[in-house]
Amino acid sequence: MSTYITNARVFDGERVLEAHSVGIEGSQIVTVGQEPPRDARVVDAEGATLLPGLIDGHVHSSFEALRIALGFGVTTELEMQGYWTPEQRKEIEENDAIADVRSALLGLMAPGGHPHELIAELNEHRPGGQGWTPPSVSTPEEAVAFVNARVAEGADYIKVMIEEGTVMGHPGLPMISTETLRAGVAEAHRLGRQVIAHAMTLESTVQAIEVGVDGLAHLFIDRPHTPEIVSAIADAGIFVTPCLVVSSSVMGGTGMALAADPRVSSRLTESWLATLRGSFNKYPEGKPDDVLASVAALRDAGVDIIAGTDASIPVPSHGGVVHGASLHHELQLLVKAGLTPVEALRAATSVPARRFGLSDRGRIAPGARADLLLVDGDPTIRIDESLSIRAIWRRGAAVSEH
Ligand SMILES: [Zn+2]
Repeated sequence: MSTYITNARVFDGERVLEAHSVGIEGSQIVTVGQEPPRDARVVDAEGATLLPGLIDGHVHSSFEALRIALGFGVTTELEMQGYWTPEQRKEIEENDAIADVRSALLGLMAPGGHPHELIAELNEHRPGGQGWTPPSVSTPEEAVAFVNARVAEGADYIKVMIEEGTVMGHPGLPMISTETLRAGVAEAHRLGRQVIAHAMTLESTVQAIEVGVDGLAHLFIDRPHTPEIVSAIADAGIFVTPCLVVSSSVMGGTGMALAADPRVSSRLTESWLATLRGSFNKYPEGKPDDVLASVAALRDAGVDIIAGTDASIPVPSHGGVVHGASLHHELQLLVKAGLTPVEALRAATSVPARRFGLSDRGRIAPGARADLLLVDGDPTIRIDESLSIRAIWRRGAAVSEH
């Protein structure tokens, strides 16, 4: 039996359509703008807006995180460092009670380089001490071997860390050499994988562009933008996932307002709410308005902007950011930066789908996956209404509230 969502405002991932009904059969969207057949199950969406399921372009995930994300209409998370076995990946693909995931698996990092400093902080709080130390690369040969190992494990793309530590409260962190980075990027491209760089300073961003990455998992926060850096990013055709929520947290911001919103608090446990109320606060001297202005300049230069959160684990040191809810916060900050609500929504749907080769999602069109989010009101005009969630479907399966 087919399901028809009728009387909805429909944002298809690019624009608001004239059509008001979307038909689903099994896991797919089958029609847009057609009357429901007599035997269809009809969902009357009067007063609501139907959107493609949202895509979070930067997370570090877990089964729990994927469940939380889906509850906020985030049907796909793009993980920028993490770990899953092929069996777990299959389980996620088939489980319509959690969000889908794509992953870089482990990123390329220098011995003792980022994110070792974050892992060390976490290990301090862990009973029994030491904990886990991730593998690292020091030579071009090691980078090539590392990339091959990740691709063999099922990495969808490759992540590289270019971080000297200033904005992370650890200046002088060891870094991967340019030569080693170049070798890793070339090997990833040879194997048909994109490379996404962690870079949070202007200088690291320049280096990321020089070694030929395809996307930036953050936007630099240490300096105002210059015409040179904006045109360098635009000319290289690189996408940018500014992660404004986490940048704001690194500069002392919190998710306090979000945590006080019943649309958010009703969907999170106390430990995630405590995380959301917290703050990274590693770089309080940073200027959030400069970062917003950089986003506007990139948009004006035609750079693809992707919405991402850097949501990770529920611990106080990773404060201000949680799965699902913070993607809605990111949309609000993108609008604050100067994107229109429609541009912000594209950044969480069609743009990441296009840049990550997810041709089956991020759009409402016949043949696309029925990953859908129905919200009260009109977030294409008032972005805050993306949080007024009425219903969610993953592969055509209605997601029940837990
Ligand atoms: Zn991250």
